[in-house]
Amino acid sequence: MSIRPILLHPDPRLKKACPPVPAVTGEIAQLAEDMLATMYDAPGVGLAAPQVGVLARMFVMDCVKEEGAVPRPMVLINPEIIWRSDEKNTYEEGCLSIPEHYAPVTRPAQVTMRWLGLDGKTHEERFDDLWSTCAQHELDHLDGKLFIDHLGPIKRQMITRKMEKFKRERARG
Ligand code: ZN
Repeated sequence: MSIRPILLHPDPRLKKACPPVPAVTGEIAQLAEDMLATMYDAPGVGLAAPQVGVLARMFVMDCVKEEGAVPRPMVLINPEIIWRSDEKNTYEEGCLSIPEHYAPVTRPAQVTMRWLGLDGKTHEERFDDLWSTCAQHELDHLDGKLFIDHLGPIKRQMITRKMEKFKRERARG
């Protein structure tokens, strides 16, 4: 298990549509384990494969936030939304690839997703609240879409410029 570096926006690898995972191999299981470790270390509630530079349709999440509650690490391979509610929900979203920037994003309040698990079986579950927002945010990553792509162009450009500056300063040390 190892913690992998998280790519920061702007990065061309965060703008790519990812191809499906052809089979659950040992390599994929290892990637899932590393992604969970990276997510918990950050800390964050979700992390998609392209954020660690792997262009594959999979993400991990754990939205259990109550202190002392049992964690629920989830690995979703080739996820798809098979149902979305008409009801919408707005959450202040952030992203491990866009640290320290937050903005409200409106999405369907509930979604049902279908995915392939590490057990090689198809899973289906309805997500609500933060789980729903997180699952949709992570699925967006697999299509090269970031939460700032849901914002207006002015706000998006402002965050992108600040991130470019942040990356330049970080590169200089
Ligand atoms: Zn994100």
